[in-house]
Amino acid sequence: MEHKHDNDCLFCKIIKGEIPSDKVYEDDWCYAFRDINPQAPVHILVVPKGHIGSVGEIDESNSNYSAKCLEAIAKISRQENLGGGFRVISNCGPDAGQTVMHLHFHVLAGKTMGEKML
Ligand code: AMP
Ligand code: ZN
Repeated sequence: MEHKHDNDCLFCKIIKGEIPSDKVYEDDWCYAFRDINPQAPVHILVVPKGHIGSVGEIDESNSNYSAKCLEAIAKISRQENLGGGFRVISNCGPDAGQTVMHLHFHVLAGKTMGEKML
């Protein structure tokens, strides 16, 4: 499988193995690893192997990556025993606080989430 990479992108470097990560799951389309600064007892990042900047850059040509990432999240929830529930978040752009410009889904679990936006 050929994936488009951005040489200056942190998560592309993690996918290529140029920067180490605590891998949780991998398939042809997606890579998942533990967040370096966890916000919950379980905090996993699920990223497409092809470079997409954010949810705002999803279109007809690349939306299969997002579907595969969501499939991967469901698999990871079983693999990591997240039967108590989990939250999926994707920050897009400055107002949402996106810091890494490669599409990623935060999977948060292991505690009651408390106050919420939605
Ligand atoms: P966001 O703020 O939504 O763009 O999320 C970026 C996430 O990437 C943050 O939760 C960071 O803690 C996480 N992060 C940054 N660098 C690394 C790294 N080298 N390994 C794992 N997670 C990272
Ligand atoms: Zn990237």
